[in-house]
Amino acid sequence: MRLFVDSHTHTLASGHSYSTVQELAQAARDNGIEMIAITDHGPALKGAPTVIHFWNLKVIPAIMYGVRVIKGAEVNITDYSGKYDIPDWALKQLDFAIASFHDIVIKPSTVEDHTSAMEAVLANPYIDAVAHPGNPIFQVDIDRVVKAAAKYGKLIEINNHSFTARRGSDENCLEFARKCRQYGVRTVCGSDAHISFDVGNLGKVEAILKEADLPDELVLCSSAARFEEYLEERKARIVGKLAL
Ligand SMILES: [Zn+2]
Ligand SMILES: [Zn+2]
Repeated sequence: MRLFVDSHTHTLASGHSYSTVQELAQAARDNGIEMIAITDHGPALKGAPTVIHFWNLKVIPAIMYGVRVIKGAEVNITDYSGKYDIPDWALKQLDFAIASFHDIVIKPSTVEDHTSAMEAVLANPYIDAVAHPGNPIFQVDIDRVVKAAAKYGKLIEINNHSFTARRGSDENCLEFARKCRQYGVRTVCGSDAHISFDVGNLGKVEAILKEADLPDELVLCSSAARFEEYLEERKARIVGKLAL
């Protein structure tokens, strides 16, 4: 399966990544990627930008060098009740938000704690996906997390960077992909690029998707149109929430 969308990338705004939005978009174009999500780290991670950065993402064109640029964030989960570090008023203005654990922000705890925090963030209308949920440092009950994604119509990320940066993720990622097939949960696929050369680097994710035999309709990143459809669904969900 060929992937045309990279749903997880970082610009130099994250503080420990090294390319501009322009460089990421150009690299996407050069690598045959039609759509990228810019998902810089939330402010709880040292060196990451303030909330104003996310609020002002609207100045970035929706299409750069022929590549659709989605304005997003990688929100830090900051406690085990599912709190996170970007306020809802800023998340409302974004196209896409993924949430994740980082051990320099939150100390790893029990499987129960990790799992219940992920269930809580997936219930939140402003969060679209859990990012690198296969990280064994924050081991979760995979069945419960995928069931929560199914319940709330949310997404599970398969993260290419995990296979090198978060060792031991392979088995967990495969299990996540298999459970997504079982429960009909859609996946997103991110390079987690911290430099432009890694944009669209999704080879290991493609191998996992193949091994789990995931159908195209459960792989949002297999088509820019499919991903765009999901973004419309997100907008409708958030409007519904605001009307409450
Ligand atoms: Zn991350
Ligand atoms: Zn990341």
